Amino acid sequence: MFRAKIYLWLLAENLKIFEEIKSIRDFLKVCSAKKKSVGFVPTMGALHEGHLALIKKAKKENDLVVCSIFVNPTQFNNKEDLAKYPRDLKKDIEFLESVNCDILFVPNEKEMYPEDEKEKLLKLDFGNLDKIMEGKFRPGHFIGVATIVNKLFRIVEPDKAYFGEKDYQQLIIIKKMVEKLKQPIQIIPCSIKREKDGLAMSSRNARLTKEERKAAPFIYMLLKEAEKFYPVLSPSKIKNLVEKRFSENKNFILEYFEIVDSSTLISLNKWEKMQNPIACIAAHLGKVRLIDNIKMQ
Ligand code: AMP
Repeated sequence: MFRAKIYLWLLAENLKIFEEIKSIRDFLKVCSAKKKSVGFVPTMGALHEGHLALIKKAKKENDLVVCSIFVNPTQFNNKEDLAKYPRDLKKDIEFLESVNCDILFVPNEKEMYPEDEKEKLLKLDFGNLDKIMEGKFRPGHFIGVATIVNKLFRIVEPDKAYFGEKDYQQLIIIKKMVEKLKQPIQIIPCSIKREKDGLAMSSRNARLTKEERKAAPFIYMLLKEAEKFYPVLSPSKIKNLVEKRFSENKNFILEYFEIVDSSTLISLNKWEKMQNPIACIAAHLGKVRLIDNIKMQ
């Protein structure tokens, strides 16, 4: 194990890798004294072009970019999903080197959740934001996300942090957390990176079988179809249409399809001026749960 790690660390030519909170903090303190701006990209690893787009954007806008890789147990409400979450640190390091990421923080579970803190989750009221859509089907998920992102923010103390619109509800919740905790961090949204056939890139796509992978673009196809009907059909008519199309497709089990306001995430019953509607979806394809969304414009 120790040898394997040394080998991985040797792979990194320019990337500085830290596993301990104290060592990354000491390093970043020196950078901060030199007035270097820090961009931060938190991830769970199994990196793909979607993650790299965030890092590339962060590179353009900051002196230093920190990426973290930590598969956070407190945000998984399904043990199998956590156990099967793809992990490939060697490939991740190669990816990070290829985009000139400066720092990788890759702590273990004990470092992020010491014994005495194990049960301590962030106590913050997100109102309705964490109760609907993902929150409804993955109870406790967002408190787990907010807990780990808050811990990471306190360690890295970035000027800017980058989040993908792929996890749109998460982005809104992190914005709310920063606002409530008055953290001086700018949250930068990044648009969704897709495969050529429209499937939103995701670490979980690696778990799809060949047949499932072929079927997967159906989700984006339906989102595009839903967008085409905006604003001719009402939100509920579009919802019925999408639900019907899913019920006719044996490959998928639809969890939810919601059209919500993109700032408040409140479900829309009719179109009104000044709204920026977004359609969000979650569906199971075999054993893999996929999410996606589209802004309706
Ligand atoms: P994860 O490793 O899944 O926790 O994702 C880390 C960050 O990358 C989150 O802010 C995600 O929203 C973002 N991300 C993941 N997939 C994509 C994608 N296809 N396009 C843009 N951002 C993404």
